[in-house]
Amino acid sequence: MPLFKKFKQSNTLRWFFLGIGILAVIALTGMNVYSLYALQESTIESAKENRKFQLEEFTNKVRHRFYRPFRGISKLDMNDLENSWEASGHFPIHFQNVLKDALSDSLFSNIYYTPDYLDGCYNEEHPIYKFDPFSGLFTISENNPKEVCDGFGISKSRMNTITIEDFRWNNKVAFDAHRSMTLALINLDDRNIVGHINFMIDRDHLLHNILETELMSKFGDTEESGMVVWVRDWMQDEILLSSNSDFKFSRDKVDMRQRFPDLLDNWVLQASFLQSPAVAATNASLTRNLIVLGFAVFVLFGALVFMFINAQREREFAQRQAGFLANVTHELKTPLAVMQAAGENISDGRVTDGERLKGYGEHIYDEAIRLRKMIDKLLDVARVDSGQTLIKKASLNIDHVLKEYYQKNRAYVESQGFSFEFISNGKIPLVMVDPDHLETILNNLVENSIKYSGQTKEIQIGISSNQSDVKITVADKGMGIPRKAQKKVFDKFYRVENSMTGLTKGHGLGLSIVKNMVELNGGKIDLKSEVNKGSIFSITFPARQISAEEQDEAHEYKAINIPDRVELEQYARQ
Ligand code: ADP
Repeated sequence: MPLFKKFKQSNTLRWFFLGIGILAVIALTGMNVYSLYALQESTIESAKENRKFQLEEFTNKVRHRFYRPFRGISKLDMNDLENSWEASGHFPIHFQNVLKDALSDSLFSNIYYTPDYLDGCYNEEHPIYKFDPFSGLFTISENNPKEVCDGFGISKSRMNTITIEDFRWNNKVAFDAHRSMTLALINLDDRNIVGHINFMIDRDHLLHNILETELMSKFGDTEESGMVVWVRDWMQDEILLSSNSDFKFSRDKVDMRQRFPDLLDNWVLQASFLQSPAVAATNASLTRNLIVLGFAVFVLFGALVFMFINAQREREFAQRQAGFLANVTHELKTPLAVMQAAGENISDGRVTDGERLKGYGEHIYDEAIRLRKMIDKLLDVARVDSGQTLIKKASLNIDHVLKEYYQKNRAYVESQGFSFEFISNGKIPLVMVDPDHLETILNNLVENSIKYSGQTKEIQIGISSNQSDVKITVADKGMGIPRKAQKKVFDKFYRVENSMTGLTKGHGLGLSIVKNMVELNGGKIDLKSEVNKGSIFSITFPARQISAEEQDEAHEYKAINIPDRVELEQYARQ
C-alpha cells in the first residue's frame, strides 16, 4: 500500500490534525487574550501619564505665579543698582517700582533687604532694611521676625555653593518652605553678590486665594479630571486643601505624589485616581471581548471535537460495514454450498437409503431456514435504510398478543434449554402498533437472549402499564452488556467485543432494526444491563385512549402468528 494511503487511513493522521487544530485554537486564543490585556494596560498607562502631566502642570503654574512680579528683573543692570545703593542708600526708581508692584500682590506681606557684605542677623551693628511701599525706599528695621533671617540665611548659604564665575543669571531665588522667597542680586560684570531681597509670603493668601482657586479649577470636577487631589503638609501631617471634600484622605488611597519644584518644600500634592471613562470603557470591552472569545473558543473546540468524534464514528461504521459485507458473503455462500452438495448427492441418485435421504433433506431445510432468516434481516435493513418501511398500524391488545406469542414460542425456547416465563401486570390498554413490526422486535430480542446466555438460562417477557403507557420487557440472566457498549448496541453493525460474540453468529443488525421499528411505531426502547447478571430491554408505547366498544373489537384482533417450525417447514417447501 502506498505510504500516503496508509497514512491517510491511519488514526495517527486524525489525531495529528486534531492536535494541530487544538494547538492553533490555543495559540490564537493566547494571542488574542495577550493583545487585549496589552491594549488595556496601555490605556491605563496613558491615563496615568495624562494625570501625572496634569499634576506637574499644576505645580509649574504655581511656581510661575511666584515669579510673576519679577519678570523684568533679569534685564536690570546690577551695576546701576549697586552704585545707587552705595551712593544714596536707595535703589533706582525703576527698581523701586518693581518692588512696589510685588508688594501690591497680596501673595507677599513684606520685603526686606540686606547687602551681601552686611550681616544684620548675626551682627547687631549691621542693619536690616525693610521696604516702604509708599515712599519706595528701604529703611532700617528693628525687631525683625525670625523668618527674615531664615530667608537670608538660606539665600546666603545657597550662594556659597554656587560658582559665581560660571553663573549666567543676575539673580537667584531661594525658598524657605512656604514662608519666604529670597532673591540674591548678582552683578555679573564684577562677579559679586550685591545683596538679598526677602519677600515674606502670606500663607493664607497663598493657600486659599492661589492654591485653592487653582486646585478647584483644575481638579474640582472629579469626574472630568478622574482624580481627587490633596495638598498635604507632610512635616505637620496635615491636609491643607482637597479638590473634593467628599473623599476623605487616606494614605492607601494615594496613587501618585507630586512635589512643587524648588518651592513649598514641606507641601506635596497627593492624588487618588478614580477610574477614568477611557479605562472603564477598556475594562468593559475587555470583559466583553473575553466573554465573546471564550464562547467562540468553546464553540470551536466543541466543533473540533464533534468533527473528530464524528469522523471516528464514521470510520468505525465503515469498518463494521466492510466486516459485515465480508461476513454476509461468507454466510450466504456456506448454506448454499451445503445445500448444493446435499442436492447433488440426492439428484445423482447416489443416496437411496431412506434414513440418509432424510438427513440430507434436514440439512437442506436447516440451511434454507438460515438463508431465509438472513435474507429477511437484510431486507429489513435495506427497507429501513431506504426509508421504505411500511407501517400498518393496528389497534392491538398487546397483553393478548404477547400471551399468544409466548404460547407459540415456549416450546422452541425451552428446547434451547431455557425456562421461559410471561408476566402480565394488570389491565393493559390498547396501543397502535404494526403487528409485523412487533413480531420482528420480539423475535430479535428473544433470539438475542438465547444467543447471549450465561449459566442461568432464564428468559422472561412481561407487560405492564400505567394507563398512559404500555411497557413490554424482555429480560434474561445472560452475559449482560458492558456499560460503555450499552448505547452502541443499537448502532448498525455494532457487536460487543468478547469471546461470546466471537462464538455466536450475528452481524450487529438485530438491535438497530428493533430500535428503528420501535421508534417508527412511536415508542422508545431502553436497556438495563449488568455484565454476567443479565439484560432487560424495555419498550414503551403510548397507550391509545379509546371507547369501550373499540376495546372489545381489539380483543378479537388476531394475535401475531409467529411461524413455528411446522409452518416454516411448509413455507420452505413452497
Ligand atoms: P447480533 O446479535 O447480530 O450481533 P444485535 O444488533 O442483535 O446483533 O446485537 C448487538 C450486540 O449486542 C450483540 O453482538 C451482543 O454483543 C449484544 N447483545 C444483544 N442482546 C444481548 C443480550 N440479550 N445479552 C447480552 N448481549 C446482547
